[in-house]
Amino acid sequence: MRISDILRVKGDQVVTVPPDTTVERLLSVLAQHRIGAVVVSRDGAVVDGIVSERDIVRALASRGSGVLTEQVSAIQTTQVRTVTPDARLEDVERLMTERRFRHVPVVVEGTLRGVVSIGDVVKNRIDELETERSALADYVTGERS
Ligand code: AMP
Repeated sequence: MRISDILRVKGDQVVTVPPDTTVERLLSVLAQHRIGAVVVSRDGAVVDGIVSERDIVRALASRGSGVLTEQVSAIQTTQVRTVTPDARLEDVERLMTERRFRHVPVVVEGTLRGVVSIGDVVKNRIDELETERSALADYVTGERS
């Protein structure tokens, strides 16, 4: 299974915000789209950073509520790990587990093409297990030779 297979199903929509978006506005964007992270991008195509709910929680804990009026560029991660659509799903799973992040932007020649989240990975894993279980059940009950 490749990342492109996941994007084919979920689509290539990516929610981005420009770096000068306030953290307060970012909260609305996360809530409105029911997501946990957004890619920070000046032009909606190049990845400048990523900011997740964890960054907001950490900033609130260390700097207090004043952070809400700061720009997302003040709390974003700029060293973003990205993958290409031909990356194997199991490698991305390993990357997320080892690096402890739940979102990976998909980039082709410097342009954003999608985002894969841990939710997508888990959904895919469950689908795979269900297909396998069903094939084994058919085999055992003789419905498939
Ligand atoms: P997450 O688990 O995705 O909510 O993110 C946990 C931390 O990792 C936050 O500080 C994020 O800004 C950062 N982060 C999320 N995704 C990535 C990524 N693909 N590359 C680098 N850092 C990331």
